[in-house]
Amino acid sequence: MNNVNLLDVSNLKVHFPIYLNGLFRKVKGYVKAVDGVSFSLDRGQTLGLVGESGSGKTTIGRAVLRALEPTEGKISFTADGTHVDLATLQGKALKQFRPNMQLIFQDPYASLNPRMTVRDIISEPLECLNSFSRKEIDERVREIAGMCRLNLEHLRRFPHAFSGGQRQRICIARALVSRPKFVVCDESVSALDVSIQAEIINLLMDLQQELHLTYLFIAHDLSVVAHISTKVAVMYVGQFAELAPTERLFFKPLHPYTRALLSAVPTINLETAFEPVKLEGDIPNPANPPQGCRFHTRCPYVSSICKEEIPQWQEWEAEHFVACHRVDELN
Ligand code: SF4
Repeated sequence: MNNVNLLDVSNLKVHFPIYLNGLFRKVKGYVKAVDGVSFSLDRGQTLGLVGESGSGKTTIGRAVLRALEPTEGKISFTADGTHVDLATLQGKALKQFRPNMQLIFQDPYASLNPRMTVRDIISEPLECLNSFSRKEIDERVREIAGMCRLNLEHLRRFPHAFSGGQRQRICIARALVSRPKFVVCDESVSALDVSIQAEIINLLMDLQQELHLTYLFIAHDLSVVAHISTKVAVMYVGQFAELAPTERLFFKPLHPYTRALLSAVPTINLETAFEPVKLEGDIPNPANPPQGCRFHTRCPYVSSICKEEIPQWQEWEAEHFVACHRVDELN
């Protein structure tokens, strides 16, 4: 089932207008949350998305799911021999396509309705489709609950009766009940204790094997991303700085920003630790990004060309992409 292209995102842009106060609400500028991002994913793969808060990771996930309208770009989705451009899908066609893509939220406490039983929470996506009988829905709910290690007795309870890890398993069951092919995990383990994180990550990986799922895995924790991802993209102010297969990105990072992120990961093995790279200042405002390379205001290797020209997105080695003027000198 692997090596079949599922998702192809090309030059994706999501710009949010900034309005002036007043009667006519004129547009005075745009927040360029995502600004020209391209990637592809095969069935069964996981793309890890890392970067500082505000770099545009969640916006990419939501735009691909069409929870946000893309400003520009193509999102090709191929499933069961059918090929659609998600960016242009509208109305009934989009609604019918939605079961193929789902989202697992960050906070398992805020994302479950406390007034609904677990059975009703998990079955809700199927009820919305209006195309299943009650018997079919009950069978599906029981099947997916079992796969997510919930027992039948749990289905009658309300969310308050569960721990954080159990709640996140309910969220995963709800996301998978419609048998999606593509799932966005938006910081899905960040709110959990470390031991529970490991349990949920292993569950996600088991379900990926069993159901041939493809994940877009958004996280801050690089060690979690390294564990689950097939390839990793590093984001900075709405653009990719680097994209590579996981092992290559973690052992041979090319971009100074990737090195700075990796050098900030605590390790007890000094032989594998990276030279510390200290980043000064804050991430720039995406409504007014710096000219040239967006990282030049914080890069320790900045030169004059970095301030003037936008670095090309280039394939430095097979499947290892980077945007940096000085990548040859620095590596
Ligand atoms: Fe640093 Fe220049 Fe490379 Fe940007 S292009 S990452 S400023 S060296």
